[in-house]
Amino acid sequence: MAGRKLKLYKTDAVVLRTINAREADLLLVLFSREYGKMRVMAHGARKPASRKRGFVQPFCHTRFLLHKGREMDSVSQCEGLELFPDLPKSMRTLGYASYLAELVENLTVEGEANENVFLLLLKAFRLLAQRDPEVLARAFEIKLASFLGYRPVLGRCAGCRRALAGAGAQVGFSAALGGVLCSSCTKETERVFLCHRGTVETLKLLLRWELGRLENLKVSTQARQEIKTVLENYIEYHLGYRGKAAEFFSSLGGER
Ligand SMILES: [Zn+2]
Repeated sequence: MAGRKLKLYKTDAVVLRTINAREADLLLVLFSREYGKMRVMAHGARKPASRKRGFVQPFCHTRFLLHKGREMDSVSQCEGLELFPDLPKSMRTLGYASYLAELVENLTVEGEANENVFLLLLKAFRLLAQRDPEVLARAFEIKLASFLGYRPVLGRCAGCRRALAGAGAQVGFSAALGGVLCSSCTKETERVFLCHRGTVETLKLLLRWELGRLENLKVSTQARQEIKTVLENYIEYHLGYRGKAAEFFSSLGGER
């Protein structure tokens, strides 16, 4: 954090969200490589002639030179590193990009750096427009939860810690206990979500595989629904947040 004590300091960051401020100022919510989530002011950034303008839009990966302020730091200079021009080309891709940014903003703590989260977000933005964005988003959710210290238990029972051998076609998942359950723990636990064994196998791959490899993964409609429910409940239970963008996706219906 030494850099932030100086009057001017540099950081590479992804713009998660922007909020119009007074006059032509723009308040930026960033996730930076060096300092994690932060809020900074870009003065005059909404003026048509502003040189900052193109690099302070949502989802841009930008190198910032920031000026330490008494109440809030402000953008002194900025330079675009990656602008992801394909993201706004479809409503669906744009919706998923907003959702991933929303998750990072709401699940992380201001000033806590997490390079894994930063790199995950960049990689997801690079791939969103070319890949199945729904599968990518589910992988993003489970990896993000793991990087924040909440890796779900999928290889053995999260209740009694025994191997899952002999379990039937369906496996219980408990958000509270932190993962899958054997048949006896499933019977003894409240609020268990039953999912197919294949869904658990897919969850393991979403957790383990690099985002770039996911195009090789075939996920059935049933597994998609189960994984969505499992991860929504898991993230809400452990990280206290349920994505608002979910409403946006239901309004899109089956459109891909
Ligand atoms: Zn058990």
